[in-house]
Amino acid sequence: MIDFHCHLDLYAKPAEVIAEVARRGTYVLAVTTTPKAFEGNLRYVSEVARIRVAVGLHPELVKERHHEVGLVCATLARTRYVGEVGLDGSPDHRPSMELQREVLRRILGACASQGGRIVSLHSRMAASQVLDEIEIAGAAAMGTPVLHWFSGSLKELGRAAGLGCWFSVGPAMLASRNGRTLASLMPRDRVLPETDGPFGQADGNPLSPWDAENVVPALAELWGEPKQAVATVMTSNLRRLVS
Ligand code: MN
Repeated sequence: MIDFHCHLDLYAKPAEVIAEVARRGTYVLAVTTTPKAFEGNLRYVSEVARIRVAVGLHPELVKERHHEVGLVCATLARTRYVGEVGLDGSPDHRPSMELQREVLRRILGACASQGGRIVSLHSRMAASQVLDEIEIAGAAAMGTPVLHWFSGSLKELGRAAGLGCWFSVGPAMLASRNGRTLASLMPRDRVLPETDGPFGQADGNPLSPWDAENVVPALAELWGEPKQAVATVMTSNLRRLVS
């Protein structure tokens, strides 16, 4: 199974979660919310073959930590994966939008100048603005944008698909009617499972990386395909993305 957006370092007991990930052989993209956390994550997961660590600067933290953008860019040389980055236009974070935009523009520009990265993007209440930044950096030049927990409009979904974006979808997203509608219309060869754990929850409990497997039956129902076929598509999507 695959969890393409998980905050492994933010669980109450990361070592236990990582040990279980190793036991199950789950592929995990461990996103980070600050570039300083990248080092700690590398240490945590150095023994686990199927965990990849992304360097990030979460848009909700940009107001306090925008000066760490240089460290994000400097760390790009050490990983193919970037995240969590993006923009958050919700009321609490709208005041820092200009700063968020500057930070994201610099990171995506650095990705482009280093030959492209796989980038896990947050776009809550800012889908159009994130797509604008992808266009400015050059969708092909910046690498591969993966919109995590996308919650834009159908029109924005169409624009994102046209730009070549990928999508990571999780059980929490698929619990909402809007999330299911969006997932039903996504290009199936550019979708991956995620949990966004421990922020992503089910019934009030944090999702664990292996709970990403619940995405398969949900997508099978939405897409009208057998579960096994969806599971196969997810695996081949990951292989194509990272190869
Ligand atoms: Mn996240």
